Amino acid sequence: MSFFTTALAALASPAAPAPAPAPAPAAPAAAAAIPTMPALPPKPTRRLIQLAALVPVRVPVLRKAGTDPNLARPSNAEALFGHIVGQIAAPACSHCRGGHGPWTECVVVGDHFRGACTNCQFGSEAGRCSFRKSLASPICKAC
Ligand SMILES: [Zn+2]
Ligand SMILES: [Zn+2]
Repeated sequence: MSFFTTALAALASPAAPAPAPAPAPAAPAAAAAIPTMPALPPKPTRRLIQLAALVPVRVPVLRKAGTDPNLARPSNAEALFGHIVGQIAAPACSHCRGGHGPWTECVVVGDHFRGACTNCQFGSEAGRCSFRKSLASPICKAC
C-alpha cells in the first residue's frame, strides 16, 4: 500500500502545482472572421433595428474586393445587416447565380424582404429576386 500512499501524496503535494489550463480559444484559428454587427446608422429603420438584434453569423464577402457598399441608403444597410444574420440559400437565387449583387453568397433572412435575398434587396432591387414572394399570394393565411 505504501506505493499508492506515496503516489497519492505526490499527487496531492502542492510543491509543483499544475499551471492553470489556458482558456480555450472561443473561435477557430480564423479569428479575423468572427462576425460582428456594424454600428447602426444615425436614423435606423425599424427593420434595421430588428435585424441588428439578431445574432451575427457571417462576415460579408464582397464579390469585388475594395468596393464599398453605400450604406447611407436604408435598403443597402438593411441588406448588409440581413446578410450578416441570415441563412445561405441553396441553390442561390437566379440573380446571384448570374454573379450579381455585392456579396458572394445568396443569403435570405426569414420573411424579411418578402423572402428576397440580401443581394437583391441591396439597391432596393428585391423585386427582381427569384425568391421574392408575390404580393398577391394565393395562399390563405387564415386556413
Ligand atoms: Zn440571391
Ligand atoms: Zn435574390
